[in-house]
Amino acid sequence: NRLSISDPIRTNDILRKYKLRAKKSLGQNFLTSEKVLNDIVDASQLKPDEIAIEIGPGIGALTEKLAQVAEKVFAFEIDDNLIPILVDTLSDYDNIEVFNEDILNVDLDQFVKDHGIEGKTIKVVANLPYYITTPIMLNLINSDYPFQSLVLMMQKEVAERITADPGHRQYGSLTIGVQTLMKTRIDRIVGKNSFVPRPKVDSAVVVLERLENAGEGIDDPKYFNKLIRSSFAQKRKSLMNNLLNWKGRTDENRAKITQVFEDCGVADNARAEQVSIDQFKQMAIDLAAKFD
Ligand code: SAM
Repeated sequence: NRLSISDPIRTNDILRKYKLRAKKSLGQNFLTSEKVLNDIVDASQLKPDEIAIEIGPGIGALTEKLAQVAEKVFAFEIDDNLIPILVDTLSDYDNIEVFNEDILNVDLDQFVKDHGIEGKTIKVVANLPYYITTPIMLNLINSDYPFQSLVLMMQKEVAERITADPGHRQYGSLTIGVQTLMKTRIDRIVGKNSFVPRPKVDSAVVVLERLENAGEGIDDPKYFNKLIRSSFAQKRKSLMNNLLNWKGRTDENRAKITQVFEDCGVADNARAEQVSIDQFKQMAIDLAAKFD
């Protein structure tokens, strides 16, 4: 009956036993709040026949909680020094496999095939290394394998961008990149004191669930992405100005764009942050038609 790994007494014992110093460069902030960990696991709604993929197990605080509810946990940890520690801290569990890999180099589609878990419900649950939150998340949501949900701890500021609604300062290209594929919500905010060492910023647990109609209404993803990038290129300028920078500043182009705005219900002087994703989808189709 050992204490949970996240118990501050046990975490400190582990750090001392292995003379471990958290590496800032790898975003190592270990969770020491049982309550936060339980909330993360609850948010994942993992069931006994489901698979959890964890990124960055650290010393295993979240990993052990996942192993208690899921059929199997696959965890990817970049830091070689942590591997023998995980073997020790997780020795009570026989349903965990740890891989010493940089998650950005793992082909998850291939991984799923190689491990015979195709067709299973697979959920990604992680307290992310914050220096690479965005690339990790975008890789996961754009992967061919339809991960059913992602429960990700990240810096609060990024969480607010991902979950923003139109009309909010944080609404931008990242919001749209994520929300075209996933339904998003902030499950809870997590203060700095829940980690050892304390991070510089507040954190949030974000739940991302795959939309059934993911990508619907987007004929040409490349063109849609180009529209989004161009629209938000200069956030404080009007959408019209940004689109003229893209298409060329001529009277003819201005007239075409004005017509597209009218058809999509976008005000002449709107800024990109006021335009909904559905409006952008329609605009992409109308613009492509008018400018071909
Ligand atoms: N899961 C642990 C917890 O909640 O206490 C540790 C979370 S800590 C915020 C992030 C973890 O990700 C660290 O263990 C770090 O070494 C690992 N990590 C950093 N970059 C990584 C990468 N590219 N691939 C896999 N793991 C990485």
